[in-house]
Amino acid sequence: MPYEPYFTEEHDQLRKMIRKFVENEIKPFVDEWEEEGMFPRSLFNRMGELGLLGLHYPEEVGGQGGDYFSGLILAEEMNKCGCGGVPMAIAVQTDMATPPIYKFGTKDQHERFLKPALRGEKIAAIGITEPNNGSDVMGIQTRARRDGDEWVINGTKTFITNGTRADFVTLVTRTSDDPGPKGISLFLVETNHPGFSVGKKLEKVGMRSSDTAELIFDDVRVPHENLLGEEGKGFYQIMWQLQGERMIGAAGAIGGAEKSYELALNYAKTRIAFNQPISNFQVIAHLLAEMKTQIEACRELTYATAYRFAKGEVPSKEISMTKLAAVQMAHWVADRALQIFGGNGYMAEYPIERAWRDSRLARIGGGTDEIMKEIIAKQMGL
Ligand SMILES: Cc1cc2nc3c(=O)[nH]c(=O)nc-3n(C[C@H](O)[C@H](O)[C@H](O)COP(=O)(O)OP(=O)(O)OC[C@H]3O[C@@H](n4cnc5c(N)ncnc54)[C@H](O)[C@@H]3O)c2cc1C
Repeated sequence: MPYEPYFTEEHDQLRKMIRKFVENEIKPFVDEWEEEGMFPRSLFNRMGELGLLGLHYPEEVGGQGGDYFSGLILAEEMNKCGCGGVPMAIAVQTDMATPPIYKFGTKDQHERFLKPALRGEKIAAIGITEPNNGSDVMGIQTRARRDGDEWVINGTKTFITNGTRADFVTLVTRTSDDPGPKGISLFLVETNHPGFSVGKKLEKVGMRSSDTAELIFDDVRVPHENLLGEEGKGFYQIMWQLQGERMIGAAGAIGGAEKSYELALNYAKTRIAFNQPISNFQVIAHLLAEMKTQIEACRELTYATAYRFAKGEVPSKEISMTKLAAVQMAHWVADRALQIFGGNGYMAEYPIERAWRDSRLARIGGGTDEIMKEIIAKQMGL
């Protein structure tokens, strides 16, 4: 049955199709990819072929012409695949690096960057964070200087998802000495330009099947046509981009939390202690009830905020509330699920330890818990 008012029969069909795809083409390989520290490039190609990378983009730019909720379904279902790394890398491709190209890009940029990304032929990355600046986006130091018809870029980005193999980076740079928002501009930078290099692949606590890298720009020359949107408007453009990133992060957190909850529920029904399934203990049953309640509360908040975002509103206070609540909830649920698994929960051979490690990241990436609270408090007039 469709989950009104947000989902239709068509959405339900799409969810079924994605579930089958995740079950058959991702889940069986997740352990291997986690071990290798990366999933194969062919997954981008395959998802592009199936139309899964452009669900909510219009057909004229190579998308499927679906609505915003179709992208949300992808994020939820992908996060049930048994790891957080693959869905995160795919979300960078679908909802983090590409939306600004669609919204602010020229027709030529749609052809050169957006369409091949939605087809899964080019891998995209989003480059905001630097070694000395993460939360403080206005403080970034990567500098682009105009030289005739070209721009010359110098600087270092870090923690960049898809960074070791991205074909291009949607890059946040400083284009003037103005310390305020007017000093920031976006560029689309192909990684085959001389002067670009991957500093190192970074080792992480979780999200191991997704590659994370430091990127170095040493006199990288890009043509003026690679400026994305207007010069000096990059700060506003990236603040808009972050709203979508937070929404998709919340949807992913709901999917991940559901998965952790299901694992814990099944385990509680089959694990015997004191001659009975541990789900018989009131304390465990009540914990599961509380976990489910938190998931459903965050799901409703996510859908309600997404509904406004889909209509073109940018309710940044509510988006921050949604992201904060959903990612904290997902980590809390994973932690309680691990507790229900007891000692087994701490063992690598049980899936809950990975869910617990992976769920930690969303409280940092895309705007930390503290930054979400700052945004909310400011808009409350505090
Ligand atoms: C696995 C992974 C993948 C990532 N992928 C990408 C990517 O693809 N592209 C990209 O650009 N970035 C990416 N990031 C970076 C991520 O977005 C940043 O780590 C995040 O924004 C926080 O920035 P920071 O690490 O510099 O922390 P800092 O900004 O240094 O913050 C440190 C601490 O201070 C707190 N703090 C900072 N400012 C304030 C304030 N004003 N008020 C209260 N508290 C404050 C923070 O909440 C945090 O607790 C990724 C990070 C990780 C770990």
